[in-house]
Amino acid sequence: MLILLRGRSKWLETNRVIEEFKYLDNQLLLALDGTEYYSSKKINCPHCNCRKHRNGSVTYYHQAVTPVIVSPIKKQVINFPPEFIKKQDGKTKQDCENAAVKRWLLRNPVGQENNQITLLGDDLYSRQPICELALEQEYNFIFVAQPSSHKSLYEWIDFSEKNGEMKIGEIKKYEKGKRRIYRYRYVNNVPMRESEPSLMVNWYEVEIFAPAKNKVIYKNSFITNHELNESNIFKMIVSGRTRWKVENESNNILKNQGYNLEHNFGHGQENLSEILLSLNLLAFLFHNVLDLVNSMYQKVRESLGTRKRFFNDIRALLNYIWFQSWNDLFIFILTEGESREPVNTS
Ligand SMILES: [Zn+2]
Repeated sequence: MLILLRGRSKWLETNRVIEEFKYLDNQLLLALDGTEYYSSKKINCPHCNCRKHRNGSVTYYHQAVTPVIVSPIKKQVINFPPEFIKKQDGKTKQDCENAAVKRWLLRNPVGQENNQITLLGDDLYSRQPICELALEQEYNFIFVAQPSSHKSLYEWIDFSEKNGEMKIGEIKKYEKGKRRIYRYRYVNNVPMRESEPSLMVNWYEVEIFAPAKNKVIYKNSFITNHELNESNIFKMIVSGRTRWKVENESNNILKNQGYNLEHNFGHGQENLSEILLSLNLLAFLFHNVLDLVNSMYQKVRESLGTRKRFFNDIRALLNYIWFQSWNDLFIFILTEGESREPVNTS
């Protein structure tokens, strides 16, 4: 992370763009999630993972963990280079998201960086080896922890509740004109697993109730190394929930909104599919950064509405007209867009 934040986002830091993403007592929230970007029943390489089906057929695939800075107070996200989930050199064993995250953590310690970083991840990440490694590399973490995968932790939680150690509360909010009641429970310092030595973690659960619908619209529980108290619990809830942004604002956009992440662009012999994914992620990064800092880009995006239309219009215009610069292209879109008259086809 030292390298990532020093190198690739140095400019964002100097221009205080990164500053705007900070939440939860000056933390950057970095969400980690695995995503698949290539699959084939035929084409494969020594690095492909594979799924064997009951009918005897095999699907070969490539996946990656995509680290993304998200913030509850920003619509944009800032993505970092992916960690590829692939069979490692000389290994016959399949690679997995868990192992890929460990490699990523080892390669990217926070180090002397001023930025404090809290990792967000789903239930796959709330395992002691990953939590310990995250702490060693000087990250904080908020990971989903489901009862089904943390039996011993939940026995401790029941015990804490019976003992009166559990803190319980409710926060009423208006969100976009709708009433929401956040009901929460939390307890600090519980062992995360049965076998010794166990890491001590802090646990919280939230349920968001919508009175108009008379139902719970969101429920989740998390473990974290941040100590929980009445003054930070709401922001902790919001931070944990922001993890969905890596799916919605990042992977969903990459898959469905013009980047076609799941389209098999090409596999090549060795590294082509990885290079194509990296180029796609780089384009996504550029677009997010432009959206953060470039007023011309912001105006064009606003005037064209959806991302798809933005891409389609640029593609079509570049097919027919030569522009000296991106600026000229954007000025053309803005000025022509305003003065456009309906074409008479009769
Ligand atoms: Zn392959």
